[in-house]
Amino acid sequence: MVKRPQGEPDDSCFQFVEEMLPVLEEGQIMVKVIWLSLDPYMRGRMNDVKSYTAPMQIGDVMVGETAGVVVESRSQHYQKGDCVTVHKGWQRYIIVDDDEPRVMKVDLANGTLSAHLGVVGMPGRTAYFGLTEVGKPKPGETLVVAAASGAVGSVVGQLAQVMGLKAIGIAGGAEKCRYVKETLGFDDCLDYKEGDLAEKLRVACPDGIDIYFENVGGDVTRAVAPLLNPGARVPICGYISNYNATDISQVQTPFDILKTAKHVPEHRFFVVTEWQNQWQEATEKLGQWVNSGKIKYRESIGEGLENAPELFRGLLKGKNFGKQLVKVADE
Ligand code: NDP
Repeated sequence: MVKRPQGEPDDSCFQFVEEMLPVLEEGQIMVKVIWLSLDPYMRGRMNDVKSYTAPMQIGDVMVGETAGVVVESRSQHYQKGDCVTVHKGWQRYIIVDDDEPRVMKVDLANGTLSAHLGVVGMPGRTAYFGLTEVGKPKPGETLVVAAASGAVGSVVGQLAQVMGLKAIGIAGGAEKCRYVKETLGFDDCLDYKEGDLAEKLRVACPDGIDIYFENVGGDVTRAVAPLLNPGARVPICGYISNYNATDISQVQTPFDILKTAKHVPEHRFFVVTEWQNQWQEATEKLGQWVNSGKIKYRESIGEGLENAPELFRGLLKGKNFGKQLVKVADE
């Protein structure tokens, strides 16, 4: 990152830099990156604002998680050919100490290499912990989730169904809504871009809303808030509709909106890393649901690291359809 964005991050915010790879030191591995994950949180890290973690500095490698293969090893714990995920940014090759917490071995029994950046990776775990730990679901309840065809939302709604809840999705456009209903099996999915969302929600949720899994904020939250039941829970995962705001301190956040609800819900922001000590267990559970067909997923794949900025801009405005990935190299 060579410049902080004002609004949408244009090409002048990024610079593609090539340099010689250093020689490995004892205890290090070199990873050839196959997949780069693009995630909405990256936009927040480009601002000079401290949120749950420190902002990036000008000149830093763009943050991000990648999945790849160990091509050289001077470690006791990793061998050439091992598949790993590494949280070391938008890079083609990554050299990392084997004891860094942000490198994890991938067990392909739980899903494909790319799935470890999506459905059985960070977004899948976000859905799982956000729903179970903050949403506290009970069978028979009604759950609403927006960005329902996306990486987190698609897993939230399918898990809700596994747990015996009624799942109502919200998504942008007829094609995404059809997929959420017909392929993912949600009870319904409403197109917020068509308008009249508040009325459509009222019809789709005759018993009110017990859990609203917050991914987008803004007008969607305003439409949901009046329908929240007494005792409702709102895991605040993110509010992507505000991420490109030129001054994020001026936006009305979900916290501001929910405070004014008739029945103010139990709500809090959470970050998936709260449950880091249970990641392995969650990955295995998600892998079982995927392998048994209870959780389905789709990926939105772009080619080439040099195209990451454009794909990232697309993600922030819903051009992706499923988990956004960049294919950096062939497996
Ligand atoms: P998605 O795969 O869902 O992609 C983002 C989607 O957001 C787009 O496809 C688009 O879907 C939707 N969107 C974009 N702009 C708007 C808008 N103005 N109004 C409504 N919807 C919009 O991304 P993720 O699943 O990776 O992330 C979803 C949310 O979860 C984000 O807010 C993210 O920050 C958060 N998150 C939080 C984590 C945590 O630990 N707290 C971890 C991971 C993610 P559509 O076309 O349907 O509008």
